[in-house]
Amino acid sequence: MRMTNQRKEILNLLKKTSQPKSAEMIFEELPDHTMNLSTIYRTMDAFFQEGLITKSNMNNTSYYYLNHKHHHHYLICLGCQKMYEMDCHLDHIADEVAKHHHFKITHHDMTVYGYCESCQQKM
Ligand SMILES: [Zn+2]
Ligand SMILES: [Zn+2]
Repeated sequence: MRMTNQRKEILNLLKKTSQPKSAEMIFEELPDHTMNLSTIYRTMDAFFQEGLITKSNMNNTSYYYLNHKHHHHYLICLGCQKMYEMDCHLDHIADEVAKHHHFKITHHDMTVYGYCESCQQKM
């Protein structure tokens, strides 16, 4: 897939935000609505395949956020989509299981879901 201006626009949008975005949110926030929703979904799938983004499912919607060079995981609030960084401690565990099954690991992802302090107070 080519790095078109449209792809760059989506990546810039994800770079500027600290919250995961759904395809609908990306659609709303793109400056000129040149891309339809299905193009955005296809682009996000391509980004995901290339390891550029992580996909998280919340409330039956897929949310996307950029992968950082420094590998880590996130806690994501189901109420307001606020994200908290978490160091990765999975490699050691995953390696052991992989060895046992002669499994070759390429990558992993993991997201922890819940409610932030202010969203808990609203419940
Ligand atoms: Zn929250
Ligand atoms: Zn990890």
